[in-house]
Parts: sequence; C-alpha cells; structure tokens
Amino acid sequence: MIVLKFGGTSVRNAEWINRVLDIAHAELPRSPLLVSSAMAGVTDDLLSMASSAAQGRGEDALQLLESMRQRHIQTCSELLDRHESATHSALEQLISDVRHLIQGISLVRECTPRTQDAVVSFGERLSTLLIAAGGEARGIQVRLFDSREFVRTDDQFTNATCLLEPTYRLIREGITPHPHTLLIAQGFIGATADGVTSTLGRGGSDFSATIFGAALQAEEVQIWTDVDGILTADPRIVSIARQVEVLSYPEAAELAFFGAKVVHPFTIQPAVERGIPVTVRNTGRPEQAGTRIQAASEVHGVRALATRKGITVITIHSSRMLNAYGFLSRIFAVFERYRISVDLVATSEVSVSMTVDNAVNLGPAIGELENYGSVQVETHQAILSLVGRNLWRDPSFVTRVFTSLADVPLRMISLGSSDINLSLVMSESSVDTAMRTLHGEFFE
Ligand code: ADP
Ligand code: ASP
Ligand code: MG
Repeated sequence: MIVLKFGGTSVRNAEWINRVLDIAHAELPRSPLLVSSAMAGVTDDLLSMASSAAQGRGEDALQLLESMRQRHIQTCSELLDRHESATHSALEQLISDVRHLIQGISLVRECTPRTQDAVVSFGERLSTLLIAAGGEARGIQVRLFDSREFVRTDDQFTNATCLLEPTYRLIREGITPHPHTLLIAQGFIGATADGVTSTLGRGGSDFSATIFGAALQAEEVQIWTDVDGILTADPRIVSIARQVEVLSYPEAAELAFFGAKVVHPFTIQPAVERGIPVTVRNTGRPEQAGTRIQAASEVHGVRALATRKGITVITIHSSRMLNAYGFLSRIFAVFERYRISVDLVATSEVSVSMTVDNAVNLGPAIGELENYGSVQVETHQAILSLVGRNLWRDPSFVTRVFTSLADVPLRMISLGSSDINLSLVMSESSVDTAMRTLHGEFFE
C-alpha cells in the first residue's frame, strides 16, 4: 500500500482537489490511503474564530465562519457538478457544529486548548468530506475514515503527543487497504483515550501520514505540497533555492527540526522505524520526481540550509561551575520541571549557553536559574543550520562558512555531535542575509 498526503494548498479549491484525485486515481492499483490537511487558510481561520469569540467578538467569528461555509459549499458544488444533497447536508452539519462551538466560546468568553482543538479539527473533517465526495463523483470506490478513531494521543491539547503503539494497533485493526479503493483520512487530528479530540501541532498532517504509513507497512509515503521537494534553502528567503534529489533520514529529520517547514519535524521518525521511503512532491507538477528520503544517501557535504527564528539564548555565568560536578544537571532539571526543551548547548569553564524556542513559562524558570549564577536572556535570535553528511571530512568546510559570514556577529556555534549539522546562532535580523550568503557559497 501507499500513503499520499496532501497539504492545504494542494486542496485549496475544486480545481486542485481534482488534481489530487487525478494523482490518487493513478495510484489506485497500489492500495492508496490519502491523508489530507484542511483547505489552505482554513486552520488559521478557525483559530481566529475561536480567539475572536473568546475576546467577545462573536459576530466577527460568525462572519468568518459564513465565508468558510460558502467556500466549502462552492467547492462541493463545483466538484460534484450537481446538487448532491447527502454531501451538502453533511457539510452543513459540520458547519453547524462549529457554529455551536463558537457560540459556546462567546458565552463563556474563554477558549481552552481542548476547545480550540475541537474547533480546528473541523478543517480536516471538512476537506476530507469534499475529497471523498469528489472521488465518488468520479466513480472511484471511496472509504472515508475518522482519524480520531485511530490516532491516539495524550491530552496536551494543541500539541498532543501521538501514542504510537496503541495508534498502530488501532490502525491495523480498523483499516485494511485494498487495490482500487481510495481510503481517506484526516491529517493533524487525533483523540485521547477518552475520545476527546486533539491535534498534533501545526503542520502535523505530515506526521499523521507517516504514522498511517508505518502502521500499515506502506511501501512509500508521498508528501504532496506546493514546491518541487525539499529545496537547498527556504524558497521564501532564497528564491533560487533548488531541489535536493535524495536525503537520508537523519539529514531530513535535522532539516525539519531546524526549520524547513516543508516537512513537520516528527514526520521522519515512524518512517525510520519501518524503513519506509518518504518522497516530497509538487501537486502542481506531478511529473517531477521530487525529493526521496531514505535510509542512506551516498552524497557528502552540505545538502541544504534551514533557519528557525524566534529563538531565545539563555546564558548562566557562575564561577561555581569551575570543577564542580552536577552543575549542568541541576540546570537542566529546572528546564525539565518547566517542560522547556533546550535545543543547542555550549559550555565553557564558567558559563553555559542554551537555546530554547518556547518562551512560554520562561519567567519562573529564569527565576530559579538565578539561584545558580547570573542569567542573561537574549530574545529575537535565530538558528541557521547547514545539514549534510561528513561535513568535517572536507577541511575547507569550516573556513568557507566562517569566511563567508565574516561580517555576521555569531552568538553561539554548535558543531553537532552527529557530524551532519553545523548550527549557528545569530540575531534574527541577520539570518536571512546569512542564509543567502551561505547559499551563494555552497550552491550557486
Ligand atoms: P503544506 O501545506 O503542503 O503542508 P507547507 O506550507 O507546510 O505546505 O510547506 C511547504 C512550504 O515550506 C513551501 O511552500 C516553502 O515555502 C516552505 N519551505 C521552507 N523551507 C523549505 C525547504 N528547504 N524546501 C522546500 N520548502 C521549504
Ligand atoms: N491544517 C493543519 C495546519 O495548518 C495541519 C497541516 O496542515 O499539516 O497546521
Ligand atoms: Mg505543512
């Protein structure tokens, strides 16, 4: 079997849903499971409705809901080319459920993370309903599943952790792929053991795709998006970034973790466990092969660049660190207590610097860290990562990086124990230029 995942821009309107169905149709002999995101912009709109309603602007929320309703009804009419009442009434029912939720939020003027997940889940539920109806209208045999019955998560709403073992079991028990039947499920959404709707975090549909793929032993997971694959840099920053043909799992995971938005950071893990190749392809140009992510790649040297903004650097200076054991572990225990994840670390005899990208809860954590030394906090920082295999094998690599960035003040450097990542921390305002400079040095 094969998993085909489509992002929001790939299902943005009827014309694009038809392209998606063309791709799925061609794959019918390989027993496809199609995983889809919400139509482009819908998740943002639903979040904005929930927040307007919580702030007492219920009318604004309902107005936005009405335009979302019209967009889906219009797409449905175009896809079906006639008024097919069952799908229309199913759409109206989902929209009416959202309306009730919005009204409830307006009444209590509060939107908890759990309620927010209930609201945003409708994006994927609506889009998959449309795709399923469009497939049936073409005469394809379709089965639409509700991912909440299969993707089991914890209760960290808005950013829930998928509990892989029960999830794999539920998927295997409940879903059987068949040649010439198009199975469809929602990306991004899941449910707790109590059946409460949850989501896997923004961009989480890619992760859903490899979860389904790993459970069903897919021969391949294809991630269809709006670019030709994983590119040598973020194309919004480097317009001439070009497609990378093959990446290893660790390279792709590193790029995703350090900011290449094209795949969600958790996507690779389920694929690695089962050795499933993941390809990233362009829905607008299906004739292109895209990027193939697989167990190993023979290519050495820098493959691509990635950046993550909104980083905070925390530095603790303390002479007590000198020759002391247990110092670092006490510091990391503070981060653990506040559930703050530390990404990069650099130490000297008397100081330790760390990057975090989640500034929530930082205040109280900093308060505790001050027991161990003087604490300096720098916000608006960014990480720029160069990813590739055996980076250090080429003796000129480091020289080229630092010579090209001679004018950029660097805050921290992480040489990456894995030998596939050199990460540089700098101010957010210099990172785009630095990315273009390094792209020029290594790829142009
Ligand atoms: P989808 O809705 O299909 O999931 P996303 O918007 O989440 O799509 O991801 C695709 C986008 O990721 C691209 O349009 C591009 O702007 C951005 N992007 C960032 N870094 C990269 C990269 N290295 N390669 C390709 N795309 C990237
Ligand atoms: N629709 C969700 C989002 O916009 C999930 C996804 O697209 O992957 O974040
Ligand atoms: Mg995405």
